[in-house]
Amino acid sequence: MTVDEDQIRERLRAVEDPALGQDIGSLGLIDDVRIEDGVAHVSVAFNAPYSTDEKAMGDRIREEIRELDLEPELSVSLSWEDPDSPLPDVRNVIPIASGKGGVGKTTVATNLATALAQTGARVGLLDADIYGPNVPGMLGIEAQPGLTEENLILPPEVDGIKLMSMAFLTDDDTDPAMLRGPMVDKLLSELIEETQWGELDYLLVDLPPGTGDEQLTLLQSVPVTGAVVVTTPEDIALSDVRKGIRMFHDRGTPVLGIVENMSSFLCPSCGDEHELYGSGGGADLAAEFDVPLLAEIPMDPEIRSGSDADKPVTVLQETAAAEHFLDLRAVVTNRIGAVNRAIVGELDPDDEDTPLVPMPQQEPKVESDQ
Ligand code: ADP
Ligand code: MG
Repeated sequence: MTVDEDQIRERLRAVEDPALGQDIGSLGLIDDVRIEDGVAHVSVAFNAPYSTDEKAMGDRIREEIRELDLEPELSVSLSWEDPDSPLPDVRNVIPIASGKGGVGKTTVATNLATALAQTGARVGLLDADIYGPNVPGMLGIEAQPGLTEENLILPPEVDGIKLMSMAFLTDDDTDPAMLRGPMVDKLLSELIEETQWGELDYLLVDLPPGTGDEQLTLLQSVPVTGAVVVTTPEDIALSDVRKGIRMFHDRGTPVLGIVENMSSFLCPSCGDEHELYGSGGGADLAAEFDVPLLAEIPMDPEIRSGSDADKPVTVLQETAAAEHFLDLRAVVTNRIGAVNRAIVGELDPDDEDTPLVPMPQQEPKVESDQ
């Protein structure tokens, strides 16, 4: 029996997208199928490297092709790519945002970046928090950026992460308060566009806290896959968190989900997790906006010592604290993949059967200011 390309396409309808609940054929995720010398070359519109969902779908595709007595050869197509993007080689730009400072935005950004790099993903980290650029400190970076022949900024690399920071551009005497508005916009666009990132799977952006101009500049200048919103249980009730989520919604930027940080206290002496602020706040907020709760990370002295020791905690293997960030990595990459594939599949975000709904179905009930 000779198998033709249509038969392969038909066969691959048996592979289901675990996040979107449809088969990959109907979703339009199979771009190209070509048979050559007993090898079936299949290109798929996947865009979340190292995500467990896309890896599992890849395995399923190979399985189905082997059933047809062909050798599978999978590749990822980039047909969705926007040639006009200022960052054509960066697959996913992921802002890490929060309503206010001190909630653990930088901790989440650096640890998630480290966890991603550990899988082999090509990772960049942009420290855009002009009011407290402390990523170089947390990662223990002393190297300074270089300059390419084309006068592009060459980011220093540590633990497999390419890092750019506002801290590199401003000196100790720069008063952040003097850098409001257009200056910040300009610095941020410069940092993004004038940096030679090379090919990246994930570029995480540690955004300044708040819901103002700086955040909007980023959303305007580069295509953002989706944002991660970090909050503490203490701050969940604050209107700032809601404003932040709404800002992304209003601009049509998907919110990948909410990270509740310091959600409980992991007691170093008894080993139990104690709830300090009650529980369920993050879950309630996620439900209110119809976005996933990505993680509940306990307050853990190990996490603090991780950042104080200038090494993110994920560098320390097999600790309870590191485990939280490895779980977060899995959830975030799967969510990124789902958002991208939903776009390829042209799923209607307003359809309530669509598992990821970037817009809130209705205005949130609680409205504490405005
Ligand atoms: P932000 O970037 O939002 O201002 P940081 O990430 O700098 O916040 O965190 C503020 C402080 O809290 C830092 O000293 C950090 O080490 C500590 N911290 C953050 N998350 C945790 C956690 N889950 N457990 C213990 N300490 C934490
Ligand atoms: Mg910070």
